[in-house]
Amino acid sequence: MKSVIFIAPPAAGKGTISQKLIDLGYMHISTGDMLREEISKKSKLGLEIEDIMAKGNLVSDEIVFELIKNKLNNLKSSFILDGFPRTINQAQMLDKLLNELKIDNYEVIYLDINLEEAMHRALGRLSCEKCGAGYNKYYDQMKPKVDNICDKCGSNLIGRSDDNEESFKVRFETFVKNNAPIKEFYESKNKLHMIDATKGSEKTTEEVKEILND
Ligand code: ADP
Repeated sequence: MKSVIFIAPPAAGKGTISQKLIDLGYMHISTGDMLREEISKKSKLGLEIEDIMAKGNLVSDEIVFELIKNKLNNLKSSFILDGFPRTINQAQMLDKLLNELKIDNYEVIYLDINLEEAMHRALGRLSCEKCGAGYNKYYDQMKPKVDNICDKCGSNLIGRSDDNEESFKVRFETFVKNNAPIKEFYESKNKLHMIDATKGSEKTTEEVKEILND
C-alpha cells in the first residue's frame, strides 16, 4: 500500500480514517496527537504549546517538523501523515526530507468539508481519556453505547479543549488561509486527490483505500 498525506480542515475525519487504516499495517503519524502527548506529560515543550493550541493557533513549523522527522527517519512501514503539512513552508520541509529518504510512493488526499459540518462534528467529538478511541455524540453510528463511557475499555470520554466554537473558527480559518499554496504544490507534483468527506467515514475510507491501492 502507498503512504498517504492527509490535508484537510479540522474535524474533516483525518483521525477517524487513519484509525481505520492502521489495521492494514500503516504507521500513524499524527502531529496533533504528538503535541497533545507533550502537553499531558507537562514537558517543557508541552508548557510552551498548551496555550497556542487551546486558542486554535499553529505551533511553529520547526517544532512540529522535528517531531515528524524523528518518525520518518525510523520508518518500518508505509505511513499516514495526519496533520502535517499545514503551511507551505512545512510542505517544502517535508518534500526535502522525503527526497533525502528516497520516499516517493505516497499520495496526498484532501478531505473536503464545509465550516458548518466540520464545526458540528467538532462540537460533538469525544475521545477516551485512556485508550484514545474516538466517538461523536451527534451521530448515531458514532455514539458510545453508554453516555460518556468508552465501549472498548470502560474509561471516561472527554472533549478536546480546542473543540469549542471560538477556537474551532480560528483553526478552520487558519486552514483556509494557508491551504491554497499547499494544494497547488501537490497538484503540480501530480500527487493530489480530492475527496468529499461529508459522505460518512465508511464511504470516505473506501475511497481513500482505492486511491492507495492504485
Ligand atoms: P484538527 O485537525 O481537528 O485541528 P489536530 O489534532 O490535527 O486537529 O491538530 C490540533 C492542533 O495541533 C492544531 O490546531 C495546532 O495547534 C496543532 N498542530 C497540529 N499539527 C500542526 C502542524 N503541522 N503545524 C502547526 N501546528 C499543528
